[in-house]
Amino acid sequence: MEEDTKKVFIKNFGCQMNVYDSELVAGILSAQGYTIISDEHTADIVLIVGCTVREHAEKRALGYLQQVLARKKRNKELVVGLLGCLGQWAGSNLQEKLPELDIIAGPDAYRNLPALLKHLPEKSFVALENSLEDYDDIQPLRRRDGASAYIAIMRGCNHRCGYCVVPYMRGSERSRPTKSILAETENLVATGVKEIFLIGQNVNSYQYNGADFPALLDAVSGVSGVKRIRFTTSHPKNLSEKLVEVIRDRENVCSHIHLPLQSGSDRVLSAMGREYTVERYLSLISLLRREIPEVSITTDIISGYPGETVDDHQKTLDLIRMVEFDGAFTFKYSPRLNTPAFKLKDDVPEAEKIRRLNEISNLQRKITERKNKLFIGKTVTVLVEIASKRSDNDVLGRTDCGRNVIIHNQKLPIGTLCTANITAATSQTLLGAFQSILK
Ligand code: SAH
Ligand code: SF4
Repeated sequence: MEEDTKKVFIKNFGCQMNVYDSELVAGILSAQGYTIISDEHTADIVLIVGCTVREHAEKRALGYLQQVLARKKRNKELVVGLLGCLGQWAGSNLQEKLPELDIIAGPDAYRNLPALLKHLPEKSFVALENSLEDYDDIQPLRRRDGASAYIAIMRGCNHRCGYCVVPYMRGSERSRPTKSILAETENLVATGVKEIFLIGQNVNSYQYNGADFPALLDAVSGVSGVKRIRFTTSHPKNLSEKLVEVIRDRENVCSHIHLPLQSGSDRVLSAMGREYTVERYLSLISLLRREIPEVSITTDIISGYPGETVDDHQKTLDLIRMVEFDGAFTFKYSPRLNTPAFKLKDDVPEAEKIRRLNEISNLQRKITERKNKLFIGKTVTVLVEIASKRSDNDVLGRTDCGRNVIIHNQKLPIGTLCTANITAATSQTLLGAFQSILK
């Protein structure tokens, strides 16, 4: 078979950055003539962009890999590659255990993929150390024709949070030139994208030729045709007043901030190396709510970090009650090889970690539900993002504050910005009755 007719299926696991990486890989390969397909069973090449952030995520990707490798036993021609953070990790820790793998490439080695594919069956693991790679000239190939698109504004991370493997998999922080982020925004808008989602491990430390994140956000919000801008993730240490002002003053910058707390105990925050205190975190919450009264604040919380006592856990529950987050992702601490915390004794027993996790997530679920119900009877602005899988007549979208909305009995094209009256709410979704289309 000619190389340029080969069909590639890319399976993604993990965070938004891995989604973006899948789009980069698709861009790199399609520029070489490969066809990116969505049916894995007809693929000549299966590439898995895997995640290592927690054991659970890693197991899911490795489980999928085993299924694909079983298929390869029947179809020897099938080419299988492991990419993303899991590629980086597997290259150093798993290479000998997975001899059936054809390609292993870390997040900074995607440019090598065409050469690696060309030289098969010769194998090599590509992970670039101290890389400056930012893929700035690569045109990502987006597979979904949705209303929203990710743009990575930076890669890597300079923080060293005790539990986190990301800096070791993705290297040090590098920011992309503002000019090309703006050009990418313009290109996306020209293809019908309405919402730009700026992503990075810590967008608040974006820095390019004197332009910081608030300046970038302000510039992106000025691109004609951008209806909405979201961004993630913000490290509390680097959240500035200037950023809060841009969110407040720019109508198309969504009034939503994801601000990972991790723990409500100063002792645990310090052990994690988070570089802020509960007091500082609370002052940021006050600033955000004072300047942007409608702001929605979501967070990440880890239960059972090494050394976390019942008292520390209570402090986290107290803080959740005090702040009343709009939503939270809650995780059980998962020891990760080579992280600073890996050397510490994982001393909170598994059952206790789960108990604390359940307590945190049950409390937050009640708060989220109560806050969602406050929307009943109100009119919200919704960007229609996808068609409902359950009914042809329903569409799914999001409010400015990031809440999911189902709009009933109204066939609206993806990308429509409209108003809806909220008639019901759960902890997951709001149900809305269509009102009118906005320009
Ligand atoms: N750069 C982002 C996201 C990092 S990973 C940030 O700084 O917020 C996303 C979330 O996964 C983290 O916020 C943390 O809550 C969780 N996480 C990361 N490593 C973990 C680990 N080893 N165990 C449990 N949760 C973890
Ligand atoms: Fe990991 Fe901390 Fe960097 Fe986020 S800021 S990617 S949690 S090291």
